[in-house]
Amino acid sequence: MRIADVDVMDLKKKYSTPLYIYDVNHLKKNMDGYLSYFKSPNFDTEVLYASKAFSIKEVLRIVKEKGMSLDCVSLGELYTAKCVDFDFKKIYFHGNNKSYEELEYAIGNNVGVIVVDNYMELETIEEIANNKKKNVNVIVRINSGVSAHTHKFIVTSHIDSKFGVLYKSDEYNKIIDLCNKSEFINFKGFHSHIGSQIFDLEAFRAALVKLISYAKDFSEPLILNIGGGFGVRYTSEDSPIPFDVVSQTLINTANEELTKSGLKIKKLCIEPGRSIVAECGYTIYEIGYIKKTPNKEYYFINGGMTDNIRPALYQAKYDADIVGKENDVKNHLVTVAGKCCESGDLIIEGINLPEAKKGDVLITYTTGAYGYSMSNNYNKALTPAVVFVEDGKDKLVVKRQTLDELLEREI
Ligand SMILES: *Cc1c(COP(=O)(O)O)cnc(C)c1O
Repeated sequence: MRIADVDVMDLKKKYSTPLYIYDVNHLKKNMDGYLSYFKSPNFDTEVLYASKAFSIKEVLRIVKEKGMSLDCVSLGELYTAKCVDFDFKKIYFHGNNKSYEELEYAIGNNVGVIVVDNYMELETIEEIANNKKKNVNVIVRINSGVSAHTHKFIVTSHIDSKFGVLYKSDEYNKIIDLCNKSEFINFKGFHSHIGSQIFDLEAFRAALVKLISYAKDFSEPLILNIGGGFGVRYTSEDSPIPFDVVSQTLINTANEELTKSGLKIKKLCIEPGRSIVAECGYTIYEIGYIKKTPNKEYYFINGGMTDNIRPALYQAKYDADIVGKENDVKNHLVTVAGKCCESGDLIIEGINLPEAKKGDVLITYTTGAYGYSMSNNYNKALTPAVVFVEDGKDKLVVKRQTLDELLEREI
């Protein structure tokens, strides 16, 4: 099996397992896709990479090289951007409970836009902006009432979400008032993010129509940021909307709504995270022991919820193969289980795979998003290495954690 013309077994020998592997050309193609299709002659557009999906220096270098913008949600993500000299003007800073320290760092480094979640946060931003005598651009995160969960979406649900404010609520009115009064805060527009792994274009359209209707209250053209959440293919059950269709649908919806209302907007933004990095990522493991119980057969792998917590966290589904046996008969219905002390540490429940031997390499697909970024040291597992592959070459971009690093901070 080869990825970007690199033999997977060679990567196993060179870097050991578990190992995250990324196909760099695929990554760049995904970025280029959004950049080329998310455009309109009638307003500016901006594509932000939602870095929480996979925030490491090497990815941010590619984001920077592509001219994309960035969505950060913490001091750690801002700092990672700083370390690769990312232009802070192109960063949108998100989060429902940004600390004083985080806001001070963002404002001190001239962050492009802060996405305000609530009134108390705006008071803190104002205090820092006044102290520093710095102008701060803000957009307000709106809970549009559209919430989407994978294949379905519901309007007027989830009014009690921890994210954002409801249009014309007290919280909203206080935010707009303070923006108007404040010397240093510049209100620039609205943000909405309706969920993740969404396949229903209508949900995005509905949210965008709402944002545009809210923009009618303002005379100056606003920035509207419609968030991310575009679905990807984990297994054959998923049929994601291609990024040209997502992009064009949003652009067309905006143009139709603007024509109808005679309104102008300054800019339309999207924030894909998962759909940029998920499908170009793979994880390889070594199979250790194989065990049969009365009703099940287990293939045990040398990783699990420490490198991929999504199955344990929300029953996420994955597809897998045994490297070198992709074309063998898949006549074993097995559960692929991790090595953590948790019954829920199952990477795949019920998948047909060929007969495996101890030492075989198992590969899981579409692990590029929220895998490494959610990795953890439960059971004192060491965080795996990350390797990028491109045109027959491999490059180590994150080293495997060592035992000494694991204990580094313990006194
Ligand atoms: C998580 C998140 C995104 C990215 O979501 P994906 O599902 O990875 O595309 C974008 N914007 C905001 C505000 C988010 O919280």
